[in-house]
Amino acid sequence: MSPILECRDLCFSYHSAEGETEALRDISFTVFPGTFTAIVGPSGCGKSTLLSLLCGLIPPERGEIISDHTHIGYMLQRDHLLEWRTVYENAILGLEMQHQCTEENLQFVRQMLTAYGLADFADAKPSALSGGMRQRAALIRTMAIRPDLLLLDEPFSALDYQTRLEVADDIGSLIIQSGKTAILVTHDLSEAISLADRVIVLTRRPAEIRCILPLDFEEERTGPRLTSLERRNSPSFPPYFQRLWKEVRHL
Ligand code: ADP
Repeated sequence: MSPILECRDLCFSYHSAEGETEALRDISFTVFPGTFTAIVGPSGCGKSTLLSLLCGLIPPERGEIISDHTHIGYMLQRDHLLEWRTVYENAILGLEMQHQCTEENLQFVRQMLTAYGLADFADAKPSALSGGMRQRAALIRTMAIRPDLLLLDEPFSALDYQTRLEVADDIGSLIIQSGKTAILVTHDLSEAISLADRVIVLTRRPAEIRCILPLDFEEERTGPRLTSLERRNSPSFPPYFQRLWKEVRHL
């Protein structure tokens, strides 16, 4: 299977009047279709910068990103729903911006609203939605453009702890069921272990790759993939947490 994305020796620094801030140094990794990669690292190490490079918002200073016309969807910390538009109008925003409001695509959005339990709120304003429902609406908006690769930048961090667990489980399951390739940036080690196939640990700024930890849950070898809540209750979970904790606390 050929990779959906390959980063080779990515380097990036910000330049301002105050000087240079080196954010990324020699970042290399490969992403295969249908996989879920989590990226963890201390706050300010360069995680968002890396995502900005991956989606082409900023070019790398050195190194290269190889992706064969990969269509990328980006989900951010805040849901950025427009309060004056209905849930449906928010969901089709990406399609509108890309001039892709075909009947087929609009039908796809309506199907997702139903599948994600938001059909009854299609004509409501986002203010009528709970935090979790808002994230679902944001996910539909992202999925509507049918991305090959989803970039998720701490998409649950604006939620309170309990909601965050539920929404991460919920959105994580929807993404995994969709078979999409995803890269999730988070500073929450448990969240990374509960959702991903592997975790890339970044060092303090300038971010370098400290290690890549593949996650292999015994129960998933013979059965279906566990939900994130099931993973948190698996006996494989604590050893992975301890391993990651050891990596990040010595950064
Ligand atoms: P993270 O997502 O891991 O918290 P970021 O990628 O946002 O980290 O930032 C990495 C470093 O680059 C930080 O030290 C931050 O202050 C700096 N930085 C981010 N954006 C800019 C910018 N536009 N100009 C200058 N420095 C920036």
